[in-house]
Amino acid sequence: MEDKIHKGQKELNERVKDARLCTGCGACVNLCPYQRSYEDKVIAIFPCDIDAGRCYAFCPRTPVDLEGLRGRLFDRGDLTPEIGAVKGYYLARSGSAKVRSNTQHGGTVSTLMSLAMKEGMIDAAVMARRDESCLTAGVSESDPKTVGRHGKSSFVVSPGIAEFNRIAKEQYSKIGVVVTPCQALAYAKMRMKPLPEKDNNIDKLKLVVGLFCSWALAWEPLLTLLKGRVDLSLITGMDVPPVEYKAMHVFTGKTVVDISIDDVKQCVRGACHYCFDLTSEFSDISVGSAILNEPWDTAKGWNQVIARTALGLELMELARKKRLLEFREVPEDNLENLKAASMNKKRTAVKNLRIRTHSEEDLIYLDKDDPVFREIIKGG
Ligand SMILES: Cc1cc2nc3c(=O)[nH]c(=O)nc-3n(C[C@H](O)[C@H](O)[C@H](O)COP(=O)(O)OP(=O)(O)OC[C@H]3O[C@@H](n4cnc5c(N)ncnc54)[C@H](O)[C@@H]3O)c2cc1C
Ligand code: SF4
Ligand code: SF4
Repeated sequence: MEDKIHKGQKELNERVKDARLCTGCGACVNLCPYQRSYEDKVIAIFPCDIDAGRCYAFCPRTPVDLEGLRGRLFDRGDLTPEIGAVKGYYLARSGSAKVRSNTQHGGTVSTLMSLAMKEGMIDAAVMARRDESCLTAGVSESDPKTVGRHGKSSFVVSPGIAEFNRIAKEQYSKIGVVVTPCQALAYAKMRMKPLPEKDNNIDKLKLVVGLFCSWALAWEPLLTLLKGRVDLSLITGMDVPPVEYKAMHVFTGKTVVDISIDDVKQCVRGACHYCFDLTSEFSDISVGSAILNEPWDTAKGWNQVIARTALGLELMELARKKRLLEFREVPEDNLENLKAASMNKKRTAVKNLRIRTHSEEDLIYLDKDDPVFREIIKGG
């Protein structure tokens, strides 16, 4: 792979933003005065000629040694090629019906963030907030009682790492973050301190809770799609049920508006077509919906959870001990189905990257010699 770090804003613009690979993660924002987030994009408001910038080094779409990251962050024996490290795998949900009613699925993410803060594992949490126009931004909380108010998923990307970059300069010493997989990768790169003299207070990052993510939506096409069908100011949430529903559900108070999934897929952010990670592999704990052999109305009240690190396992077991989370038996084929779905996403990313480069082996930001992608390339 080419030199991974000694590049700056110019190369970030050319290779990531102009190439439409920018995921909107926010890792390059609030490091310097020159990068800003605007709507669901990140823009450079002033040119910068630094030749080794944190923006390029932290970006999840610049080349990185993924195998090196896996080796540094996880126990080797826990690593799987399909979904990364697995120390524990659960079906869980919040033990509180009140919490569940204000969260996306089982409320596991909100419960874990709140518990981590109550236990002093973190003193600030970075999450996401959707506004009335469906734009999403990072938001931080330092009171365990208010962490839960930022539940539910926004399907427009949040430049949430910009908020971490901002508050990491403040008085907090232990920060927890809720992230999409591309953001989890950016934080993993930051943790490696590629430019040690500018480490960005990354040692304050104490907990990474990752979301499963198949894709996110670009803001402008989503607005056009919703216009005339839903009053944006009434939207209380959105969800994507299993494929057989062929729809995205948009919740407005007591009604649910179904939007055709084929139309929704036209709004997927371009960068997501090149994304290899379904399950936030570079997190302490990853959480997604539960796909069960039962109606979505009941299945959607549960989460699949992967504990990946000792910290992740400790937090899950604490939540069990304190009865903050409820657990149910995991059906036999669940984990295998998740692994298959995850491999599909990796194969699609490799296929799309090869179509772009017209090359069998040039995967732009992915390493063709990485053991996971090597196998996919060999498989054709
Ligand atoms: C863009 C996107 C795509 C997703 N795709 C899938 C998928 O394909 N399959 C699947 O199983 N699950 C997917 N999820 C995850 C799923 O929607 C739930 O977040 C997850 O099941 C956890 O549910 P919960 O009830 O525990 O979450 P909650 O307790 O409601 O907590 C959700 C947390 O996510 C944060 N959040 C919301 N939107 C964002 C965002 N855009 N970026 C970062 N953080 C955010 C909130 O602030 C909150 O802290 C996706 C989520 C997002 C944001
Ligand atoms: S992917 Fe993230 S770090 Fe890279 S250019 Fe986009 S917002 Fe910046
Ligand atoms: S699909 Fe990948 S690039 Fe797109 S938002 Fe999800 S994690 Fe980020």
